[in-house]
Amino acid sequence: MTDFNPADKIQDLQYFGEFGGVNPSISDSSTYTFLSAKTMFDTFEGNAEGCYLYSRHSSPSNLYLGQALAAMEGTEAANVAASGMGAISAVLLQLCAQGNHMVSSRTIYGGTYAFMKNFLPKLGIKNTFVDITRLDMVEAAITTDTKVLYCETVSNPLLEVADIEGLAKIAKKHNLKLVVDNTFSPLSVAPAKLGADVVIHSLTKFINGSSDTVGGVTCGTQAFIDSLRNVNDGASMLLGPTMDSLRAASILKNLRTLHIRMKQHSHNALYLAGRFEQDGLKTVYPGLSSHPSHKLYKGMINPEYGFGGMMTLDVGTLDKANELMELMQERNLGYLAVSLGFYKTLFSAPGTSTSSEIPPEEQKEMGLSDGLIRFSIGLDNDIERTYRMMRKCMEELDILQPAGTAAV
Ligand SMILES: *Cc1c(COP(=O)(O)O)cnc(C)c1O
Repeated sequence: MTDFNPADKIQDLQYFGEFGGVNPSISDSSTYTFLSAKTMFDTFEGNAEGCYLYSRHSSPSNLYLGQALAAMEGTEAANVAASGMGAISAVLLQLCAQGNHMVSSRTIYGGTYAFMKNFLPKLGIKNTFVDITRLDMVEAAITTDTKVLYCETVSNPLLEVADIEGLAKIAKKHNLKLVVDNTFSPLSVAPAKLGADVVIHSLTKFINGSSDTVGGVTCGTQAFIDSLRNVNDGASMLLGPTMDSLRAASILKNLRTLHIRMKQHSHNALYLAGRFEQDGLKTVYPGLSSHPSHKLYKGMINPEYGFGGMMTLDVGTLDKANELMELMQERNLGYLAVSLGFYKTLFSAPGTSTSSEIPPEEQKEMGLSDGLIRFSIGLDNDIERTYRMMRKCMEELDILQPAGTAAV
């Protein structure tokens, strides 16, 4: 992927405000006037390039953000949404009809899992959840009704890596759409370049990076993005998960620093994961050679942006996990909060929070243990100091023995 640097693609886009401002003007309107009635009709029919109709359909601010995100993912077009779930649900409803079937990774974001498991069946759309790292099992789950193959590049919360190139081959062979949620790995991985048909992000996380809004995006071919926005049968147009223009403008400004932030998130997470693994804690991070998909992932990423900011530590029991998270928060090492991609480290126990939609027995089967803490590592300037302070918390709670004490 040396010829494709998504941060450069974003940098090359230039938008000016209407008075020569260095940021594009925000379109503070829900509706747009037409000089001729004929143009209005053409716009409804989708034939008037560059004309705006109504902001649920599109707005200049949303199109700017969409263009930047399409450039980042290397797709023809993109459509922003009010939230990650607003993008995911619209895409799945656009691609599947009653009687259709999907094959999905079983380790995905809890909301996506709940949507597939509890909501889509009400509309006659069925799902089979599989271990996404087993391509043979993925292929075996495909039926004549299957339309979509769904995964996350790096899965939430277990950090399993999807072999996107391998999955794309299976999708092509069976004429399925490969939909990839790339929320955990913006800039690091460009799924469309590896063969994904549709790439989704929750902008709420790393891309916006300031935990002040929810947002989502769908990146794909111009034809698919147009179909989502179609006034007659487009899921985004008709379900209405529209992002507000003011928000689109603020997310675009935050996107400008994503490359710098991702490098620091990755640097800090790699450092902590390495240290805690050395200390003997069960640590999962795709940048560690102990990660089952380390080699695969290394070949998928743009090395400049590293292995990402997400890691997990297993401290044994839920009680220990809770005690540790409370103590780390007390010492201002981070916040006990869901979500990710903030400047501050965020931690939560996924089994009782973001993945609580997944029944306990299924959690166990997929390796989601009670003592698991998911970390979104922040932008800390001195990560060694953070390590020392985190280690001290663990020593006080008997999770780790004080340094210098030989383990028995
Ligand atoms: C948060 C998240 C979502 C949902 O996004 P929202 O913006 O909260 O709707 C989807 N996928 C992943 C991987 C996420 O982390």
